Amino acid sequence: MRFHIITIFPEAFDSYLKESIIGRALRPSSGQAKRKKPLIEVYFYNPLSYCKPKERVDGRPYGGGPGMVLRPEVFIKSIEKALKAISKNSKAKVKIINFSPSGKKFDTAYAKTSAKKYSDIILISGRYEGIDARVMKIFKAEDISIGDYVLTGGELPAMVLLDSISRQIPGVLGTYESLEEERVSSSEVYTRPEVLKYKNKNYKVPKVLLSGNHKLIEAWKNESKK
Ligand code: SAH
Repeated sequence: MRFHIITIFPEAFDSYLKESIIGRALRPSSGQAKRKKPLIEVYFYNPLSYCKPKERVDGRPYGGGPGMVLRPEVFIKSIEKALKAISKNSKAKVKIINFSPSGKKFDTAYAKTSAKKYSDIILISGRYEGIDARVMKIFKAEDISIGDYVLTGGELPAMVLLDSISRQIPGVLGTYESLEEERVSSSEVYTRPEVLKYKNKNYKVPKVLLSGNHKLIEAWKNESKK
């Protein structure tokens, strides 16, 4: 999977993409995983790089109102650049997503479908009051929301989608991690010690988890999920 991220703040992604499971998926080969190509790739396109000297990336909104709107031309150029790179692969299946608090709500089902259906996903991260709406019309971008709250930018939503879609790609989760549908997971999990002492109180691991009885353990896990 290749993610193409359109953002005026590409550095916001740096540390997150280096760490843990996503960091590993982005490296061609790490630890026991011997492969020539990484499982996921991330490319950035910065609309600021299409601004002429002293030209602003944003402008006042038509019709008045607060804040600033990101100008269409520099976003169009960035998206075109991504599409050109993608078109080098004749079998590419592309999806273009724009982030908006009033878009369709993102969920695991959406992540699963996207991981299966597409080879390239363009994620458009806005800032301020958002991007001039004509950009989304031109490229038929789908508006996606990650929840009912308003953030200052689309960089966190882009990371949320990247993370959630990537863990649906075969091989991204390793031996210690695995997808929910392949095992019985639970929201309540425990590790050592068996008895945790905190402020004179003992906090014990539920007995059933120490029982060795797999049927009972599965039943408990299913119950704890409800
Ligand atoms: N004026 C806009 C809000 C802009 S928030 C409106 O009322 O819809 C600035 C940017 O942050 C958006 O362009 C989008 O990229 C991102 N954003 C904020 N909240 C978001 C959310 N809940 N889901 C997805 N993207 C969000």
